[in-house]
Amino acid sequence: MAKVELKGIGKVYDGNVRAVDNANIVVEDREFVVFVGPSGCGKSTTLRMIAGLEDISEGELYIDGELMNDVPPKDRNIAMVFQNYALYPHMTVYDNMAFGLKIRKTDKAEIERRVNEAARILDIEKLLDRKPKALSGGQRQRVAVGRAIVRNPKVFLFDEPLSNLDAKLRVQMRAEISDLHHRLNATMIYVTHDQIEAMTMSDKIVVMKDGKVQQIGSPLYLYNHPINKFVAGFIGSPPMNFLSVKISEKGGKIVGDEGSFEIVPTDEQAKILKDYIGKEVYFGIRPEDMVYTATPAAANNMQMKVSVVEPLGAETNVFLATKTQSIVARTSPENRFQIGDTANFTPNMEKAKFFDKETELSICDSVKSE
Ligand code: ADP
Repeated sequence: MAKVELKGIGKVYDGNVRAVDNANIVVEDREFVVFVGPSGCGKSTTLRMIAGLEDISEGELYIDGELMNDVPPKDRNIAMVFQNYALYPHMTVYDNMAFGLKIRKTDKAEIERRVNEAARILDIEKLLDRKPKALSGGQRQRVAVGRAIVRNPKVFLFDEPLSNLDAKLRVQMRAEISDLHHRLNATMIYVTHDQIEAMTMSDKIVVMKDGKVQQIGSPLYLYNHPINKFVAGFIGSPPMNFLSVKISEKGGKIVGDEGSFEIVPTDEQAKILKDYIGKEVYFGIRPEDMVYTATPAAANNMQMKVSVVEPLGAETNVFLATKTQSIVARTSPENRFQIGDTANFTPNMEKAKFFDKETELSICDSVKSE
């Protein structure tokens, strides 16, 4: 059992740098939770406070109901895997993995059993006699994970563990860490700036910005119900399109580009947008929700100029320009576009989002965390 609870956690570094503000996060037993956000948003600081590598300035940290604020790192039963692997260069793989157990005075036979077991799980049995410099990046990463596994910790913490690997290896290690999570049945907290890692690996995502938790939920919940424009734009690739539009005085239509396109909201959206009549809002639409039509649709047509075409094989991303704004659409590779073409698209209004211009909060959505 290992449940991690952060209650009102904050961190102020020397010199009054506020890195984390009032974080309230629950990581359930055996959950895989990813903290994601742009560089400098406070993810690593939060992780390091859980590990005990940073003092907690405000709030309370509980592991399995026990207050951890003043418990030294070695007594928290947590293992951390770092971005730079932090392997000892002069030691063999075996000794690197055994080191933490040796300093805890674990019995020699038990150390051997645990190291061999971890090496088997990670498929690095043949590398046990090598030094780190004789390993590839992916192999070093496995040794760093192995060193965490042998400790049999309550909680695994990962701080951007894949960022030093090339793109192909990252995809492979992503799957390996997910698989490891299922096999070890352990609680894991993983920090990354990469929203694809967050989407593909986690049970639950914590999105952070400027030291503040923005939203917590399952990957698909955040994708479908972002609480604000930041989360909407951060989760998903290519990101959601945002257009500045006006809600028209007659008919409550969504008018963009001083009238060059007019879109009819769904009945439900219209009810909420009533409060915004005459005002500007952000209209949010994901690339896959821009539907291509060979001829202009009778309603909700958006006619735009093709500015860039990105054929990716399984799909084609088309960059389109309205009079004053730009949009990305994800279409089938069967649709052929040339730069400079005029193309017609219709937004799938069931999937459209609206955000308040000032608060940037989602307007027409059941806004809640999950
Ligand atoms: P992230 O992991 O999301 O990139 P960090 O947690 O590393 O972000 O940093 C959050 C903020 O705290 C940043 O503004 C960073 O500059 C600041 N910070 C991090 N470590 C220190 C430190 N030791 N002293 C002062 N400020 C720090």
